[in-house]
Amino acid sequence: MSFDHLFKVVIIGSANVGKTSLIKRYIDDDFIFSKKTTIGIDFKTKDVEIEGKIVRLQIWDTAGQEIYRNSISFSSSIYKNADIFMIVFDLTEEKSLNKIGSYLNEIENNCRTNPLIVIVGNKSDLIEKENGNVEERINEILKGREFKFVKTSAKDGTNVNELFYEIAKKLTEES
Ligand code: GDP
Ligand code: MG
Repeated sequence: MSFDHLFKVVIIGSANVGKTSLIKRYIDDDFIFSKKTTIGIDFKTKDVEIEGKIVRLQIWDTAGQEIYRNSISFSSSIYKNADIFMIVFDLTEEKSLNKIGSYLNEIENNCRTNPLIVIVGNKSDLIEKENGNVEERINEILKGREFKFVKTSAKDGTNVNELFYEIAKKLTEES
């Protein structure tokens, strides 16, 4: 099948924040409760129609710990060719929010061009009320860098289609 645009979306973030689950929700509209850690990197594709054009998203899943063990993942060309990085954290785990800065550094140290960045706070189904501080924290961490912030739930599907659609739209507009 042919397409008009192909974009590489690379998903990074700490272990257990729901990276694999977000992809599963988006691609298969399904959710799995198990904690089977992702090994290595793998990608899935999905086509989105944006203003009459077929946009193919190639969505790369990664294992969170890898980045800290060594930089093998970042030396692979897939990171260099990423059109957008999705940095995922768990809205219920402050530790994962605090790691955003390290992931941002990895991106800046390993990518020649300035790729787009979207920050995803996942597991919104577990949050009872809005926490304005989260957005402030992210602003501090990203120090003036342009980014978009979205809250999702891979479990109930909140904002998942919207997230990938917005990414496809933004990348198409910028291409
Ligand atoms: P990864 O290590 O970042 O790929 O995380 P996984 O996708 O493997 O998910 C880790 C755990 O969190 C699993 O037990 C998932 O079922 C659970 N999980 C993932 N997304 C959500 C979510 O949106 N809400 C809730 N409640 N649990 C989630
Ligand atoms: Mg995973």
